[in-house]
Amino acid sequence: MRVLITEIIWNEGIEELIKQGFEVDYDETLWKQREKLLDMVKDYDALIVRNQTKVDRELLNAGIQLKVVGRLGVGLDNIDTAQAKKRGIPVVYARHANATSVAEYVMNAVLSANRPLYLADEDIKAGNWNRKSFTGGEIAGKTIGLIGLGEISHRVAKRAFAFGMNVIGYDPYITENDYIVTETGVQVKETLEEVLTQSDFISIHVPLTPATHYLISESELNLMKSTAFIINTSRGGIINETALAAALNQHTIAGAFLDVLEVEPISPSNKLLFCETAMITPHIAGLTEESQIRTSVLVAKEAGKIVKGEKSLCVI
Ligand code: NAD
Repeated sequence: MRVLITEIIWNEGIEELIKQGFEVDYDETLWKQREKLLDMVKDYDALIVRNQTKVDRELLNAGIQLKVVGRLGVGLDNIDTAQAKKRGIPVVYARHANATSVAEYVMNAVLSANRPLYLADEDIKAGNWNRKSFTGGEIAGKTIGLIGLGEISHRVAKRAFAFGMNVIGYDPYITENDYIVTETGVQVKETLEEVLTQSDFISIHVPLTPATHYLISESELNLMKSTAFIINTSRGGIINETALAAALNQHTIAGAFLDVLEVEPISPSNKLLFCETAMITPHIAGLTEESQIRTSVLVAKEAGKIVKGEKSLCVI
């Protein structure tokens, strides 16, 4: 059994693959070497990727012996899942393995939007002692609006409640009997507009699909309070970046925390780089030491099961 890994995986995942009898070929830069990857993939039973490798029709067809594709994460927008299905290649993903890390990132954003302690620290180190400039605000009593009410939103909601926040949300694909509606106290709104107009913080947790592309554009940003912040840890392409840069520059919203961008790594000409109220991170919301060990081991185990002809609970 041979596995080809094209992006960063934690050692624990490699050890798990070896334990299962795989011969492992790992090059974390292979996703950038398209021709080499197209040539190599024909000799492997399993292909393990993160979110940069384009697992498209061409690559799937070149993988003539592929029995499984493993995705070290949960977003599947870089994988042609229809073509994988057509070719009979199951795709396994790291179901729920990094959701807690993303939820903690969101709370970090919410807390630092209201009280950016690093600014007070910078000011002190510049020789000042300005107690009045850095008072900030409480998050208790504020409203967080969750767009998409799946796994990550459940975990954000639980933490937001612990801080005394009101939690509202929008997701057209859940029913009144879903756990998040009946058991968590999240007030589910009928429309996206209600969430956008009522929230002090908006956090996006939907997959990138043709239906969610530019879900948040100029007209949606115009509905937000001028004091509200938007947080995107889901995927670039869900917020229209040109419209967001305009809203930030015109101060029609207070700020944005962006972990994901339409083009990653960020282009030096991206307008958001020049927005003072945009806080940008390099797609790290789901990347903590703990989540990466969980993700790497889970995908290694589940890919192994498929290659051995066993069932996996992490197949899409
Ligand atoms: P999930 O599948 O559990 O939940 C997604 C929810 O979005 C579902 O409940 C679905 O009904 C809802 N949805 C779909 N279309 C919608 C729409 N048009 N409007 C409102 N709701 C809609 O997914 P999850 O585990 O919560 O993850 C969400 C996304 O977060 C993933 O698809 C992935 O792209 C992203 N993610 C990013 C990182 C990171 O490191 N930045 C890490 C993990 C996941």
